Amino acid sequence: MNKIQFNINQLVRKNVVKLQPYSSARDEFVDINQDMIFLDANENPYENGVNRYPDPQQRNLKEVLANQKKISDKNILLGNGSDEVLDLIYRAFCEPRVDNIITLPPTYGMYTVLANINDIEERKVLLDSNFQPDIAAIFDRVDTNSKLLFICSPNNPSGNLITQDRVKQILNRFEGVVIIDEAYIDFADQKSWVDTLNVYPNLIVTQTLSKAYGLAGVRLGICYASEEIIAILNKIKPPYNVNELTQKRALDRIANQSQIQTEITAIIENRIQLENTLSTVHFVEKIYTSEANFILAKVDDANKRYDQLIKEGIVIRNRSKQPLCDNTLRFTVGTTEENKKLITALNRL
Ligand SMILES: *Cc1c(COP(=O)(O)O)cnc(C)c1O
Repeated sequence: MNKIQFNINQLVRKNVVKLQPYSSARDEFVDINQDMIFLDANENPYENGVNRYPDPQQRNLKEVLANQKKISDKNILLGNGSDEVLDLIYRAFCEPRVDNIITLPPTYGMYTVLANINDIEERKVLLDSNFQPDIAAIFDRVDTNSKLLFICSPNNPSGNLITQDRVKQILNRFEGVVIIDEAYIDFADQKSWVDTLNVYPNLIVTQTLSKAYGLAGVRLGICYASEEIIAILNKIKPPYNVNELTQKRALDRIANQSQIQTEITAIIENRIQLENTLSTVHFVEKIYTSEANFILAKVDDANKRYDQLIKEGIVIRNRSKQPLCDNTLRFTVGTTEENKKLITALNRL
């Protein structure tokens, strides 16, 4: 059970509570499928497939996602990538130069960038040596202005899941909003936290079509939360933030679940193969357990090995500048063919 007193309206910025959202033509007359002459949005009337504004509420797409997750479409907000969704969350809850957010490095770099853009203080509480949250250290840094806390699970760049027990301890105690970033959840051996939205009113779960769903280029981020939180984010989102081409491509792709599952299975198999190979490479000192589509490995000299792989025509990510990540490289799992080439290159070094 949730032990905290949670009143969402006390967390929202005053200007957001008061503001009147923009009302678009498509908000005022919603049903574009009716046989009407539409002269309300100053569009060019000559049809070319995209001459009309897109549905600002993306109803078709939300319906499919709501069925998939067994929740209401009122629990969903869509954005131009999760990056937009995350930015909306900062702008809804954090008063610049007054409020603060809690992040748990090493983790996804956008939380810091968005804090800086929005002029919000970031309080960094390092993960422990197993890349799990240090609960005592977190609550030492939390105060009444701590509005958001970001948990990335599976975590980027370490690849591990945050244990359910630690997540629950945070959800039960943090009086702001907890955001669980599940960009890699489709590769993981654990259920999504979306199933617990009814239990935790202070929970936001973000997902994306950029990773397992293979649509990084169309930019579609998904936010799952209580109806109250979604209503607040809806007030401040740009009216037409998800374009028509994205909505169409996303619907087509989501309908093709068997293809997506085939690709996920192949990626996980290739990940396991790459883990096995990496563990035999002489300069690899440690491989971190991954529940994602990438592997973090500690090596003897990350800069040297990075440069050597570039010369072999392979680009990976050097994560050594992140805390707890000295001399680490992050390998995204590619196709079977790419995996082979990477393995051959590694064995040659
Ligand atoms: C890749 C990634 C995202 C994806 O962001 P989009 O804007 O949806 O492409 C989000 N969170 C994490 C942790 C990621 O690694």
